[in-house]
This record gives sequence, structure tokens and C-alpha cells, in this order.
Amino acid sequence: MKEKYILVVDQGTTSSRAILFNHNEEIVYKSQQEVACFFPNDGWVEQNALDIYLSVLNVINDILLKTNLTYDDIDSLGITNQRETTIIWDKKTGMPVYNAIVWQSRQSADICEKWKKYEKTVHVKTGLIINPYFSASKIRFILDHIENGQKRAENGDLMFGTVDTWLMYKLSRENIFKTDYTNASRTMFFNIHTLQYDDELLKLFNIPKCMLPEVCPSSYFYGNATALNENLKIRAVAGDQQAALFGQNCFEKGDSKNTYGTGCFMLMNTGTQPILSENGLITTIACSYDEQIVYALEGSVFMGGACVQRLRDQMRMIKSAGESENYAKKVKNSGGVYVVPAFVGLGAPYWDDNCRGAIFGLTRATTKEHFINATLNSIALQTKDVLSVMEKESKAKISLLKVDGGATANDYLMQYQSDILDVKLLLPNCLETTALGACYLAGLNSGYFESIDEIKNIHKYKKEFMPKMSKKIREDIDKKWAKAIEATRVFK
Ligand code: ADP
Repeated sequence: MKEKYILVVDQGTTSSRAILFNHNEEIVYKSQQEVACFFPNDGWVEQNALDIYLSVLNVINDILLKTNLTYDDIDSLGITNQRETTIIWDKKTGMPVYNAIVWQSRQSADICEKWKKYEKTVHVKTGLIINPYFSASKIRFILDHIENGQKRAENGDLMFGTVDTWLMYKLSRENIFKTDYTNASRTMFFNIHTLQYDDELLKLFNIPKCMLPEVCPSSYFYGNATALNENLKIRAVAGDQQAALFGQNCFEKGDSKNTYGTGCFMLMNTGTQPILSENGLITTIACSYDEQIVYALEGSVFMGGACVQRLRDQMRMIKSAGESENYAKKVKNSGGVYVVPAFVGLGAPYWDDNCRGAIFGLTRATTKEHFINATLNSIALQTKDVLSVMEKESKAKISLLKVDGGATANDYLMQYQSDILDVKLLLPNCLETTALGACYLAGLNSGYFESIDEIKNIHKYKKEFMPKMSKKIREDIDKKWAKAIEATRVFK
């Protein structure tokens, strides 16, 4: 029989990508197009929702053109997307009524401030903290900023979707109005226990239920992408971090992955029971391959690979991100220097918006190499803070961490991470783990992959890092880092 492929759309913040996978989880072809962000005010981040859709059409068309394949060669389509980004459109015209408000945007911070009194209710029901990051306050912002927003929404004239919903709506010629559990669990009004939109929260936020999409499992037949082809079946939808957890084969309770992109995102599969964090982690729904709902704990670090970009762009110490590794390796260690990269505050587990970056332990002998070394270390040390809380709250010891993202190209960083965690790291062959997760989910729904065991057999790793640091050195570093964090948070 002729070989078939799975097509995945990975709609990220900076770009849209289409990736074609074969049955061996190899990338047959990849096409990418950037999507512009607008910054209309300090802390605001928006995108044009039509640009997002057009970029997706472009990358899909590019793949078909370049590979000479037709839609008959494609088993199914999977979608994975930047999460929380909020789009509202007019039901009659299908046109957005406001720009897409991107997850990073702080423009609804004032609204969240007013909602702080609901913190406990929100946490217990949704697993989240009240933060402009999630969709609820972005919806409120749009309804309050367009003409007759609330009334139009209540009349059923407006529709809300995260990027997955928007793309499916358009790709299906306005037939599919659905989302999946992983995306719904980032709205701040989806009850992760009952798997329903929560009426009490919707009432508190004054968001009409009629504007919300139906919520379905991540591996599910959503309908056909008829705008592309009558028979192209959408069989997977998942938010990017949850898709990456699945793509990393973290199928069992306790399995964890960390993504080293601009920021770092650590997720741990916590099995069929949600664990509510007391220490600043988020509880979210993970992807699952059968009827069972699986939960995850999530912790994010704001400055991951972005620390390296800073070394390049602001500090002008390196010409490329890759150079950071050469410099870091030129010295035995950081020479007692600690960098706390709280340039935009600190994320999990501290959630301290107001502290700013700091450097400790400078001497006359400190060189640029020490500084670069210490900066890379800070990415690993922040990750350790998240992992430690995760272990504590899940009561599980993480003995293996799967890693992915751009900064995993840095062997120095990965070795230091393994050392400081005293944990083995595994780097998969296919670094497009987000898209791979959506590929698995679609393939499991269509029968392209027969079972999860088949996937486990196909999945390969290319590198591992084993811890080599002595306990004494590790403990000394831990102590100094804790002091550095403490001091950074005092200086405001
Ligand atoms: P995102 O998906 O958030 O855009 P990527 O996974 O593409 O991120 O990774 C890009 C990040 O990785 C950048 O912040 C960059 O500085 C960092 N990065 C890329 N290569 C290296 C390297 N060799 N060493 C350290 N950091 C790197």
C-alpha cells in the first residue's frame, strides 16, 4: 500500500509551521512562516487572527507543493497551538472583532486585579492562578472594548476560541466550533474535575456560555478541513506544552519533560488525579490516548534561552547563541558568580512580578567566560527550583527528565542540568516534540498507529546526559543559589 503521512500544524507565537511525519516519526518536510506580533502599549501583545490563519494555509500549501503530494497521501491532520491566546469573532461574518490577544500580553492585568478575591475558587476549580496569562480576562477585555460587546455576546452574535478553535472554524468553512481539554483547561473557567465550563466562574466573569466552543478529547475526530479538501480529517488538537509532553512519550504517572525555549516549561504527568499545588505550580489537563483524563503539573520559568539571547543582543558578549557553550566551557566553573535572571520578575515557583535581575559573587578575577557560564547555570538552577517543588507536591522522585527546545543544543547546559539535578536527561531524536505529540494523537485516532506500545517502539533518543557532579559541590551550589534568589527578592 502507498505510504501515508500525518500532517501537523504547529501554530506558535513567533511562527506557524506545518510538518509532515511518516510512520517512523521522521520529518518528511517542514514549512514555516513567521507571524507578526504587535505591541500597541507597554506590556500588550497582539496578533492579527487572519494573519495566523493565512500563515497556516501558506505552510500547508507549501508542503504539498514542495513534496508533490496530494491530500490523498495524508492520513489525517493534527493541530497544536500556542495556548491561551484569545480570539473573538462575529458569527455572521466570521471576521475577528479584535486582534488576537497573545498569552504573554498583560493588557488585562487590571481586570485580574479585580478578580483576586476569587483566587481560591478559581484555583480549586481550574487548577490555575488568577493571571492575565489565561483567556478569561482577555475575553473580558475584548467584550469591554468593542461596541456593545457584552450585549452581542449575550445575543449569541460573537464566538470565542483559542487558536485551535479559530483555525478549525476557518479550515472547516465555519462548520467546526470545538476545542480540546488541554486548551479549555487554560481558559480559567473550565472545571478540570467535572470537565465542563464552570457556571459559577462564568457568572463571576460575566462571560456568556453561548460564545464558547464544545470541548472534546485531544485525540478525536473533529470533522473535515473542507477549506483544504473534502476528505482531510482533523483528528487531534492539543495545546503546545501538553502536546510536547505526549510527544516526549511521557505517558505514565511521574514522567516529566522540560522544554528549553525562550522560557522553560516543565510538565509532569500526574496520572488520573489532579494535584493542586500549594507552591505556585499550575494544574492542567494533559493529553490522553483513551477515555481516561490525565492531569499534569506545570511550572514555567520566564527566562530560559532568552538569557542567551540577552547575552547576544543586550550584553553583546557573544555573536550567536551557540557561542555561549564555547565560552562557558573555557572555565572550570562560574568562579563563584551567580546570575539571577529575574529580568521580568520570577515565574514558578516564586511568581514574583516585581523583583529584577541580579548578579552575585563578582571578584577582580571574574571574566566574561565566568559570566556566560553563570548565565547558562541560571537556566538550569531555575529549572531545579521548579522540579524540586514538583517532586514535593507529587510525592514522586523524578529520576529521568526528557528535554527538548532550542537550548538543548547546548551540551554544557545539558550536562550542568543533569549534574545539578542529579538526574539523567534524555534528548529525543525528533526535536519537534510538540508536533510529534499532535502526530501521535491524530495517528492513534485514525489507526495509523495501532497502540501506544507501537509508538513507544518507534520512539528513539539521540543523546543522554548522566550526572557527574559530587554531592558536596551540588549542595554548596544549591545553598548559594537559594541565597541569591532570596537577596534578589529583597531588592525592590
Ligand atoms: P521558542 O519555541 O520559544 O521560540 P526555541 O525552542 O526555538 O524557542 O529555542 C530558541 C531559544 O533557544 C532562544 O532563546 C535561543 O537563545 C536558545 N538557544 C538556541 N541555541 C542555543 C544554544 N546553542 N545554546 C543556548 N541557547 C540556545
